[in-house]
Amino acid sequence: MTVENSLAEHAPHAQQRDHISLTRYSGRFAPSPTGPLHFGSLITAVASYCDAKAQHGTWLVRIEDTDIPRIYPGSENHILRCIDAFQFEPDAEIIFQKDRLDLYAAVLQQLQQRDLVYACQCTRKMLGSNHIYAGTCRNLGLNFANQAIRVKVTDQEICFQDRLQDKQCSNLAQDLGDFVLKRRDGIINYQLAVVVDDYLQGITHVVRGADLLDNTARQIYLGQLLGYPKLSYTHLPLAMNAQGQKLSKQNLAQALDLAQAPKLLQAALTALNQATVELDTPARMLTQAIQQWDLSRIPAGTALHGYYL
Ligand code: GLU
Repeated sequence: MTVENSLAEHAPHAQQRDHISLTRYSGRFAPSPTGPLHFGSLITAVASYCDAKAQHGTWLVRIEDTDIPRIYPGSENHILRCIDAFQFEPDAEIIFQKDRLDLYAAVLQQLQQRDLVYACQCTRKMLGSNHIYAGTCRNLGLNFANQAIRVKVTDQEICFQDRLQDKQCSNLAQDLGDFVLKRRDGIINYQLAVVVDDYLQGITHVVRGADLLDNTARQIYLGQLLGYPKLSYTHLPLAMNAQGQKLSKQNLAQALDLAQAPKLLQAALTALNQATVELDTPARMLTQAIQQWDLSRIPAGTALHGYYL
């Protein structure tokens, strides 16, 4: 199958892609199963859902499970149970990135044919504490087999207007250097998978945690290289724990307790500074939250100070 056919098969609406700005809002929630969902994940799920539904859009769920060594046993199942318990209604079947590796490989091949990527043999040890990749392997013409693949970046400012975080700009050549799309161990990097899937799923709006703000320029750049339409970005302030650290799987944020769904939903809406929603079934609470949804009420900045549970 050709690259184009394989992509078209997974993107039935690809022909309409050019008209995406005229089509309706399509949002998504894209958790990685690297640990059970926590209160911070719930905030992202609720905000992405309400924002999409308040604009009569669709909302999709995608499990980002390409990084097999980081998958935490049982967390995929916990994500699915959360979607059910909080009574979110995805508008299409949930997709799993591990089932779509051929698509990412096809896109990498396109980039390779256009000489936009190269194989890199630099190990983490060789790179040391350097955060900006110097392009050591850029012109070595190394064979692609069993090597990391990096994309060539250009010395240009990439800017976007975030709906909550104002204008953000970054120059990838100065801030980061050529970055990895596929690791030496064969794992497709999150940056590539997220861009390909947002395109193939027809996503128009990305609503996610501010911890991903730094990744956005890379994703915009890849989208530009691939000729994908621009997306709207909203980066939500992050929930913090009592010690003032962002809630994360790494610092063992407490897993969402499904038996407490209404209470947690109410707390997530409070954290987002939305009008109060009375305790009820999660479905009825979400309906009310959608009716009342007001993005401009979300606290400014990248952190939600205060502990909401
Ligand atoms: N999978 C990413 C995470 O769980 C989120 C990706 C995204 O929303 O773009 O942190």
